[in-house]
Amino acid sequence: MGQQLGLELWSRTYDLPPRWDGERVVWGRWDDLGQVFICPPPRKPDRCQTCGSSRPRLLCVGRIQARTPAAADNGADHPAGLLSALRCPDCGQDCVVDGAGQEWLLDDTDYGEDGSFDIKSQRGRRSRDAWQDLK
Ligand SMILES: [Zn+2]
Repeated sequence: MGQQLGLELWSRTYDLPPRWDGERVVWGRWDDLGQVFICPPPRKPDRCQTCGSSRPRLLCVGRIQARTPAAADNGADHPAGLLSALRCPDCGQDCVVDGAGQEWLLDDTDYGEDGSFDIKSQRGRRSRDAWQDLK
């Protein structure tokens, strides 16, 4: 896209968490929510929980590359779930919706080498079982 978002507010190692509960995540590119169609559509919070902006947020879809026990035997990675990251155009806050529809607000610590873990979340409990229900 080459779109300059102008959201370089923080110096981050990664633009989005490279890992989710320890599993590798492969993120796509940022898209405008008005131009992209995802199937199934992610559940979208109505407005930014941080600044209250209701402007359309940018969407980035990530695939969790978890190793299932069977896949580990052949050393193959299997997509284990999808994450939808929503970025506020006003304050730059990222909100990630996991496969269970749970929303997670990211903070700066989520963008490091180790990615995002539920111990840093302020919202509820992240359960690894949640996205296994997708299968
Ligand atoms: Zn915001």
